[in-house]
Amino acid sequence: MTKVLIIGAGGVGNVVTQKCAQIREVFSEICLASRTKDKCDAIASSIAHPSLTTAQVDADQVKEMVALINDFQPNIVINVALPYQDLPIMDACLETGVNYLDTANYEPPDQAKFEYKWQWDYHERYKQAGIMAVLGCGFDPGVTGVFTAHALKHHFDEIHYLDIVDCNAGDHGHPFATNFNPEINIREITQKGKYYKNSNWVEVDPFSVHRSINYPEIGERESYLLYHEELESLVKHIPTIKRARFWMTFSESYLTHLRVLQNVGLTSIEPIEYEGHQIVPLQFLKAVLPIPSSLGENYEGKTSIGCHIRGVKDGKPKTYYIYNNCNHAEAYQEVGGQAVAYTTGVPAMLGALLVVTGKWKGEGVFNVEQLDPDPFLEKLGTYGLPWHELINNSQEFTD
Ligand code: NDP
Repeated sequence: MTKVLIIGAGGVGNVVTQKCAQIREVFSEICLASRTKDKCDAIASSIAHPSLTTAQVDADQVKEMVALINDFQPNIVINVALPYQDLPIMDACLETGVNYLDTANYEPPDQAKFEYKWQWDYHERYKQAGIMAVLGCGFDPGVTGVFTAHALKHHFDEIHYLDIVDCNAGDHGHPFATNFNPEINIREITQKGKYYKNSNWVEVDPFSVHRSINYPEIGERESYLLYHEELESLVKHIPTIKRARFWMTFSESYLTHLRVLQNVGLTSIEPIEYEGHQIVPLQFLKAVLPIPSSLGENYEGKTSIGCHIRGVKDGKPKTYYIYNNCNHAEAYQEVGGQAVAYTTGVPAMLGALLVVTGKWKGEGVFNVEQLDPDPFLEKLGTYGLPWHELINNSQEFTD
C-alpha cells in the first residue's frame, strides 16, 4: 500500500493518474498536483479511486514542493510537469527523502539544450540520502532504454550499433499540432541533429539526414535523424556501442508548417517586446496551437517505436529489432488520451510501481538501462504496451 504524488496535469499526467488508479492494490493513495488545480480536478473527476486528491503547486518553488511532500508523505514523486521543473522537484525529494521519477531530462528555460549532467550531478547526494531517482522513464527515453538493456541481457554479448526509430503514423485531423507540450517538442526538433560514432558526437543540420524506414504494420515512412536524450546515457552505460542514432518520422506537411513558423520567427525562445510586454514567441505559438491532450478524440492510426540493434552473440553477428505499436483510438477509449501521452504515461506508472514494490532498487540517480529490464518487460504488455521482437530478421539497418 503506497502513496504516489504526481506533478503535472497535462496529457501525460492524465495517463499516469488513470493508470495508477487502475492498480489500487499498489497505489492506494494518489495525489495529483499541478500549477493549475482546475486541470487536476478535471482529470480526477473522470477517475473512480477511493483516495485520489488534488493540489495546487508551483513546482519551480522548492519550498512549495517540500511543503506538499511533507503534507502528503508519498513513497515516490512522479514528475510529468515540464523538463524545467526537474531540478527543483529533485531538490525537494532530496530534502524530504522521497524517491523521484521523471520522463524527460532537465532543460534550462533560456537555452534550448538538454543533457544529463545537471541530473547526474545529484547521484552522490541521492546515494547519501538512501533514495532513488529514475530518469527518463517514458517511452523514448524510457522503454527504448529498457529494450536495449533487455537486448544486452538476453540476446547479445556485445551491442555495436543502435538505431532507435520513432514513427507516429496517426492522423488527428489538424493541419499542424504537436503530440506533447509544443514548446518542449519544438525546442527539441529544431536543434541540430546529432549522433554518436566511434566515441565522438557528429552534428548535422536539422532535418538534413533522412531515410525511408519500414515500420511494422505501417509501412515505409520518411524518418529524420534527431538528437535524443537517451543516446547520451545509452552510450555511457553500454560502452561497446560504436554508433547510436535516433530517427523520427515527420510528414512533408508538418515540416512545411514548421519551416514557415521558423522563418517568421515564431519558434524563437528569445523574448521580444509586444505592446509593452516581454513575450517569448514560442510560448505565444504554444498558446495558439491545439492542446496536445485534446487531440485524442478523433485520432486514428498508430505509433510504432523500437530499437534496431546489431552486435555479436557467441562470436556470430546478430541483428535484433524490438518494438511496440500503440493505437491512438484504443488509447483514447481507455484513458481519454492519445497514443503519445499513453506510451509515456504507462512506463512512468510502471517504473514507479517497480520502485515502490522494491523490484527496482538503488540509492542514487539511475537511467532505466541501468536497472533490471525483466520485471519491467514482464508487465509492460499487461499494462497496455505489448512488445514484439524480430531476431536475425531485420535488414532495416545494414549501414
Ligand atoms: P503538458 O504541457 O500537457 O503538461 C505539463 C503540465 O505541467 C501542465 O499541466 C502544466 O501546468 C504543468 N506545469 C508546468 N509548469 C509547472 C510548474 N511550475 N508547477 C507545476 N506544474 C507545472 O505536457 P505533456 O503532458 O505533453 O508532457 C509532460 C512531460 O512529459 C514533459 O516533460 C515532456 O517532455 C514529457 N514527455 C516525455 C516523453 C517520453 O517518451 N519520454 C514523450 C512525451 C512527453 P499548466 O497546465 O498550468 O500549464
